[in-house]
Amino acid sequence: MSVRKTVLAWPVLRQVLGNDSLGRGSAVTSPATEAIQPRTVTADKVVRSVCPYCAVGCGQRVFVKDEKVVQIEGDPDSPISRGRLCPKGSASEQLVNSPGRQTAMLYRRPYGTEWESLDLETATDMIADRVLQARDQTWQDVDDQGRKLRRTLGIAGLGGATLDNEENYLIKKLFTAMGAIQIENQARI
Ligand code: SF4
Repeated sequence: MSVRKTVLAWPVLRQVLGNDSLGRGSAVTSPATEAIQPRTVTADKVVRSVCPYCAVGCGQRVFVKDEKVVQIEGDPDSPISRGRLCPKGSASEQLVNSPGRQTAMLYRRPYGTEWESLDLETATDMIADRVLQARDQTWQDVDDQGRKLRRTLGIAGLGGATLDNEENYLIKKLFTAMGAIQIENQARI
């Protein structure tokens, strides 16, 4: 590279001599930056979704390449968030692709010292068995004066903030139908 070309490439000279007097655009863009493309440009398709992190339910655009999620951005068409995502929502691509993501059911037996992997069917059956057993053992049909209760204090629901409105609605319906009255969520919807 000639000395003249090197000197003219200095950002301060490009700022003074070029059309980027504030030094916020072309004057300070490096060749490396100019050479790269955003992942949103090279994606095969875009799928609309909802951020899974909290009950606000911001709209997302999920960019997919070779059947793999490569980027997630705010959806400008969402009436809720109008293209915006908070830092957590902006980082939700990591929720999908993180190498630390757990993809198996983990179970630690009573008195066990190690986690075991279970398949989904086995884990679901174990949960169902325990719910039915707890409900049977703690069911209260009437109080001591014969007034109807039809409830159980042996089951409680505690949801995390990654549950969205629809999931919380269904969980509330399910637990109430089972007779539970202690139903709570981190986001207190
Ligand atoms: S975590 Fe952030 S981006 Fe996601 S729904 Fe909640 S406010 Fe929106």
